[in-house]
Amino acid sequence: MLQKRKELKKCIKCLDDLQKEVSKRKTYKRLMNYMEQLQELQTEVDKRQGPQDGRYSITESLKLPHPIKLPEYTIRFADLDNCGRELLEDALNARCNAYVPYSKFKVGAAFRTKCGRVFTGCNIENVALTPGSCAERTALVKGISEGFKCYDAGAVVAYHESGFTTPCGVCRQFINEFAKTDIPIYIGQAPEVSSKLPAFNDDDEVLVTSIYHLLPHSFTVFK
Ligand SMILES: [Zn+2]
Repeated sequence: MLQKRKELKKCIKCLDDLQKEVSKRKTYKRLMNYMEQLQELQTEVDKRQGPQDGRYSITESLKLPHPIKLPEYTIRFADLDNCGRELLEDALNARCNAYVPYSKFKVGAAFRTKCGRVFTGCNIENVALTPGSCAERTALVKGISEGFKCYDAGAVVAYHESGFTTPCGVCRQFINEFAKTDIPIYIGQAPEVSSKLPAFNDDDEVLVTSIYHLLPHSFTVFK
């Protein structure tokens, strides 16, 4: 009988220990849940209060019209993908038709539709100045008037001794209208002296940018 009592006592102690362990683990789990909740609250408070200097990184905002999706970089012409090389060459050829009796500044552009068709354009000046058209808009207007309203890449070519010529502000907004999402824009420098058969050299530097880089906070009417 004494032996049985001893065994019972031992079992009760074991149960007690187990009970304490279970309780500890439950408490620990509850504690961890509280910690997680506290951390979430702390993050929320930090967000609302702002950091010490009152500034956030722009990428943290959810109110931007659109995030930039494509990278921006420079590359040798020979290392560019086929799409970029073809568009730049088409833009370079279109540049030959530029009508620029006043500025003498020739620009060519080419845009590729979603289905692979390419429309090209050049800048066209006018004695009254404002009726003139940029190369980018000439190309897009040609395509849009043929029923093509969605483009997935573009190229602009001009020559300026100081470097790349990127689209003007009006053209950036115009391109954005028909881009639907971020699209690459290849910027090339035309040869300094125009020849009958203009071409790029393998080592020519090309700027690969995108419409969202060129127009990061574009005007949008939310639909
Ligand atoms: Zn323009």
